[in-house]
Order: sequence, then C-alpha cells, then structure tokens
Amino acid sequence: MPQTDSGINTPPLENECHEHIGPQLPDFTTVMDACRGRLHKRLSELLSLEQLCRQAGSLIQSRTEALIDVDEFTLPLVSLVIGNPDTAKHCLFVTAGIHGVERIGTQVLLAWLESVVERCRWDSHWRQQFESEICIVAVPIVNPGGMLRDSRCNPNGIDLNRHAPIDAEDKVPFLVGGQRLWRKIPWYRGRRDDDFEPEFIALQNIIGRHCKVGRPSIVVDFHSGFGFQDHLWIPYAYRRLPIADIGSYVALKLLWERNFPHHNYVFGPQAMHYLSHGDIWDYFYQHCRAQGITLLPLTLEMGSWLWVKKHPQQLFSFAGLFNPTVPHRHARVLRGHLLLIDFLLAAARNMEHWQPKGEQEREMQQMAQSLWYRQL
Ligand SMILES: [Zn+2]
Repeated sequence: MPQTDSGINTPPLENECHEHIGPQLPDFTTVMDACRGRLHKRLSELLSLEQLCRQAGSLIQSRTEALIDVDEFTLPLVSLVIGNPDTAKHCLFVTAGIHGVERIGTQVLLAWLESVVERCRWDSHWRQQFESEICIVAVPIVNPGGMLRDSRCNPNGIDLNRHAPIDAEDKVPFLVGGQRLWRKIPWYRGRRDDDFEPEFIALQNIIGRHCKVGRPSIVVDFHSGFGFQDHLWIPYAYRRLPIADIGSYVALKLLWERNFPHHNYVFGPQAMHYLSHGDIWDYFYQHCRAQGITLLPLTLEMGSWLWVKKHPQQLFSFAGLFNPTVPHRHARVLRGHLLLIDFLLAAARNMEHWQPKGEQEREMQQMAQSLWYRQL
C-alpha cells in the first residue's frame, strides 16, 4: 500500500473555528430586496433559492455569509441549514456553483432541497432525522457573481477551485491545472497564497462553524463539464497518492454499489484523470483532519460532453458546454441525481454503521490499491 498522508502539513488559517464568524450581515431577504427585481434574466437560481426558503418556513435557516459586489448588484452568498446544527450528530454539506457557469449543479441541488422540504411535510420519520440525528448545510450558489456573469471565475477573475493554498506535487495540465500568469485566462489562482477571496473565506467560515470533533460529515460538491459520464470524485486533486481515509471511501463506494447495482456513476479518485493546484476540498479535508475532524468530500462531476454530443448546437454558447439546454434532457438531469443525494444523506447519518475500522479498514485500503493505485 503506498504511503498515505498521515503527516499532514496545513498552513495555519487566519481564523480558527469560532473566530470565523464575521460581523452580522443583513439577512437574506433584506439583501434580496435591493436586487430581486433585476435578477430574473441573469440569476434566476438566486430567486429560486429565495423561494425555497420562503416555502420551507422554519424548516430552513438562511444566513448571509458574504456580500459580493458585481456590476450594478450586491449579491448575497447564502448558506442554508436544515436541522439543528447545535445538536446534530452528523452533517451533510452540499455545495454548488463554485464555478459560476455550471448552473446545472445549483439547479440539481435546489431540486433536491425542494424534495427534502416537501417530504418533511408528510413523512414523520424523514422529518425526525433532522431533530437530532443530522443536519444539512447547503451553499447552493458559492459564486453568485460568477453565475450572474456566466463565468467560471468569481468577479475578481479567480477560479475558486484553484484558489486554496495547496500546490500539486506533480505536473498539472498547462493552465487548466491552475495558473498565476494572468487573471484574464481561466483557472487563475490569485496572485498569492495568503490573500483569500470572500467566497473562499465564507466557505471556510461555514466549515469552521459546523465541522466538529465527533461529528463526522460528508460533502458533495456539484460540478459539470468533464467527460461523457457522471463521475463521483474522491480527493485528492493535488497528489496521486491515496487520501488517508481511502478505506472509508471504498466502503462508501461498495455500500452504494450493493444498494444500487445498476447505477451509472464512475466512482474513483480524481487524480486518475488530472491533478490541479488549489483544490478547496483537498485543503478543507486536510485542515479538518489536522484537528481530528472527519470530513469526507466528494465531487459530483456531471458529464456534460454527452449533452453536447447529443445536441452539438450547444457548442456555440459557452454556457452550453456546461449545462443541458434541451428541456427533456434538463429535466432528466434534475431528477437523475436525487437517489444518489438521498443515499449520501443516509450514509452520512449512519457513518458508524459502515465506516471500516482496524482489520476491515486495512482490507479496504488493499482493495483501493488494486482498484486504483497499482502503478504507484
Ligand atoms: Zn466546476
């Protein structure tokens, strides 16, 4: 078994857990009052998010984490919580829209949150889980300024998923793997390693507030734009060696495959496809682990090349490269991932029932080696 990363070296964060919480910002509705009427054509996802909160009433607690100035707007970066974040034993983080052009990720996440809220109305067992067992922490639009502009980057030209202070150990694809050459080329990381963007700080605050020792969590981060199939990516992006928790990831993959043998996801390490600098989940995983906190991040990378192949006209619009544009395909994508996210919610709630320990964990690590790491 190749050596895993037990010796973790995370640069110190400016803010540790409780100091993360910044000054109180105006609430979500107040911020929306100033921009709601002008968002229909440019950022309808934010209106859908607000509508979801309105319909959910007390089931969802929203919080303005940052204010993003872009063009003539001041947009809220909002987090939502379902459940009791003080007493929940487990946590599922769901994030989308880190790359503003990948709107479909936000739409899939909002569709799932709507189904969670609706089910709370009539399924008492479903609702009970949010009383003390688990909480959902959702950030459906991490990069509202980028989404308003249909851009991968945030309004400062930074690719938020190349922005964390962590460098790849091996060669990354030219430009795509993250670059510090020029802000106007995509995949720009930012000038330095210690000058963080507000969206990054907001995510850091949210993780700092909700991740605790003894409260294991799963993260699902929604993206689109790579490959012909839907991928579930295991970290790391910065190195080829297996992540310390690789045994848990194999156990989760086996659990998924045993329960849903006809699924259609490619479940494996991202590093088998490409490496990149500055991956935020590499960074947050390591930061949590250094504090003894279990956080298992997964990236759902929806295979948009298939949508383009079936409807080549999409090639003529930048957004068309990342989002399904034909209505029936769009609907299929919106419903296609609900089962997976429901499963991950249940997996997060029951982590102690499937997370391998001792000899079982060693077996899972060996399985990981034969599946993915034979060349190392
Ligand atoms: Zn993306």
